[in-house]
Amino acid sequence: MAVTVRFAGSGDSFGSGGRFQTCIVVDGPRSRVAIDFGASSLIALAQQGIEPNSLDAILLTHLHGDHCGGVPFLLIDAMLAARRARPLTIAGPRDLERRLGEIREALFPGSHVMTPTFPLRWIELPLGRPHEVLDLVVTAQPARHTAETNPTALRVEVGGKVIAYTGDTEWTDDVARAARGADLLIAECYFYDKPVKWHLNYPSIAAHRAELGARRIILTHMSREMLAHAADVPEECAHDGLLVTL
Ligand SMILES: [Zn+2]
Ligand SMILES: [Zn+2]
Repeated sequence: MAVTVRFAGSGDSFGSGGRFQTCIVVDGPRSRVAIDFGASSLIALAQQGIEPNSLDAILLTHLHGDHCGGVPFLLIDAMLAARRARPLTIAGPRDLERRLGEIREALFPGSHVMTPTFPLRWIELPLGRPHEVLDLVVTAQPARHTAETNPTALRVEVGGKVIAYTGDTEWTDDVARAARGADLLIAECYFYDKPVKWHLNYPSIAAHRAELGARRIILTHMSREMLAHAADVPEECAHDGLLVTL
């Protein structure tokens, strides 16, 4: 069975190009997972006609709001309006459960008294080692991004395919390790030529493209500056709603 990847959200933090924050929905043979779940992700899913209760798992790269800030909204909706019964697994970086509890309480003060009526499991992904999440094998590699976000890049094996996602990061050998030989590498490409700390820009991707060895590369998380140059680069660029079959 084919594995499909849908970019429900392909934007940066700040709504550049009218895009939703990062949310990449992967359908494998036995499960549906979202890779990252930015604050706008429930809206993105609704626009794409994807029922949040259909997600079996959420994989998070790091603890910035444009990558994880939608989780409290999803959990509270699941407990109140959506009446979720399906189990949910949330996997991500170190200290995930505690930090998302703090984010939830900041966004919805008093919500700590609510407890899920559906099975909810949290998994802290070890660094550099494959880890089973449902029928997926996920390897988190350390990323070079704001340290307080516990940043990682992810390599996800599902249905015989490999999807790699840089998350937010500068170029590192660990990022290359996550991407090596992947069927699809989803690479953040924040800027076209402006050098930027803790992120990839287009020159850094172009310089390392050959050593990545990924069969296909799709750029995402583009700023206004990068979006203005998207037609100038040979790589595919994501847009909200882009559906890819591997
Ligand atoms: Zn970030
Ligand atoms: Zn980001």
